[in-house]
Amino acid sequence: MRFEFTEDQIAWRDKIRDFLRQNVTPAIQQEKRNSDPITNGPLAKAFLEKVKKKGWIGIGWPKEYGGMGETMVKQFIFLEEFRTAKAPAIGMTLTSLAPTIMSVGSDEMKKEWIPKIVDGEIELALGYSEPDAGSDLANLKTEAVIDGDEFVINGQKTWNSEGHVATHEFLACRTDPDVPKHKGISIILVPIDYPGVKVLPIHTWGDVRTNEVFFDNVRVPRSNLVGNLNEGWTYAMMALNLERFDIGSIADVRRLLIEVVDFLKSTTVDGEVLSKNTIVRQRVAELYSELEICKWFAYAAAAMIDEKKFPMKEMLMGKVMGSELKAKVGDIGTQVMGLYGQLRQHSKWVPVNGDVERLFRVAPLFRFGGGTNEIMRDIIAQKSLKLPREGAR
Ligand SMILES: Cc1cc2nc3c(=O)[nH]c(=O)nc-3n(C[C@H](O)[C@H](O)[C@H](O)COP(=O)(O)OP(=O)(O)OC[C@H]3O[C@@H](n4cnc5c(N)ncnc54)[C@H](O)[C@@H]3O)c2cc1C
Repeated sequence: MRFEFTEDQIAWRDKIRDFLRQNVTPAIQQEKRNSDPITNGPLAKAFLEKVKKKGWIGIGWPKEYGGMGETMVKQFIFLEEFRTAKAPAIGMTLTSLAPTIMSVGSDEMKKEWIPKIVDGEIELALGYSEPDAGSDLANLKTEAVIDGDEFVINGQKTWNSEGHVATHEFLACRTDPDVPKHKGISIILVPIDYPGVKVLPIHTWGDVRTNEVFFDNVRVPRSNLVGNLNEGWTYAMMALNLERFDIGSIADVRRLLIEVVDFLKSTTVDGEVLSKNTIVRQRVAELYSELEICKWFAYAAAAMIDEKKFPMKEMLMGKVMGSELKAKVGDIGTQVMGLYGQLRQHSKWVPVNGDVERLFRVAPLFRFGGGTNEIMRDIIAQKSLKLPREGAR
């Protein structure tokens, strides 16, 4: 058992670090702060073009689809370095949805769609949740009925975060209403600019714009079906597991904590340097310890994937712990900075560029995103502790 990177992994990390040091400018970081956390501005887009030119889109993807065919550990090192550098994010289309299409899509679909996804010509929004289908996702009602060579889609999605910037929906639809709920769902790629699709905004507390999306007799070619008809539940779970893995990365908040500590060392309140206050020291030390544990959790899961094992409990635990820690860094971070902690980024007195205050507002999303932490804990209880299903006798 070795809890350290190999020489090859260290060389990879250093290569990425060098690139990020040269290319993530304060202007890019500021653009990110000024925009919706999931929308890339012009500087972020130009930066991501450079990443693409390096061949770093899809590190774990097969080479034939423009990837590097690399390990999950290397992919995770890449993600952690990007987060530590506050670099623009590689979106969910590339990290969870395209890999799912690559695993289960037909050869024709992969040949047609994957190069366009790599080029950024196609971006996907995640069309799962509905007004009556969140935690109980299998309850979804948006229907897709086969009519000749087309699906005809009717229904409504909600909390559709990238619906206003994406080109297509990765849409979970009911294609067989007469079988048990999980067995009658399919995933269909639906162009958002098709007639009958309407996107309306929902603005949330953490500056994230999400959307309601309505489908009114939207006609889509049958060839837009991902994988097999009625097997969408399995594919949705596949993509969700990758999304949960992503949420489990806490590299960004680890860096933020170090910035908070720097602020505490250099700020005096009521004649005392904040970093000398016992309560403040206890709280940041506790956070630092928990973040260290969480980091190794995620790497353990990545290493297991490379060994062809399925680290379900590690991924779920990482998602729960990582998202709770993000909220905790936002909470404790704003507290230990005293009244400064509540200032927003445009105040001249704001500490750490307002990143902690912003994290405080955006963090609840991570507890919900990819499935709520209550549901994740319930699955851990069932699968790892062999407890009965909730409500079962
Ligand atoms: C800002 C934001 C962006 C989002 N983006 C997307 C997106 O892009 N695409 C998408 O498809 N979805 C998205 N979601 C939706 C998100 O995945 C759901 O909010 C989440 O799955 C919970 O569903 P719900 O909101 O219907 O809550 P509910 O399922 O109604 O849950 C409400 C509360 O009850 C708890 N609860 C429910 N059932 C149980 C149970 N059996 N045991 C214990 N506790 C339970 C939940 O944990 C939660 O705390 C987003 C949500 C938000 C807030």
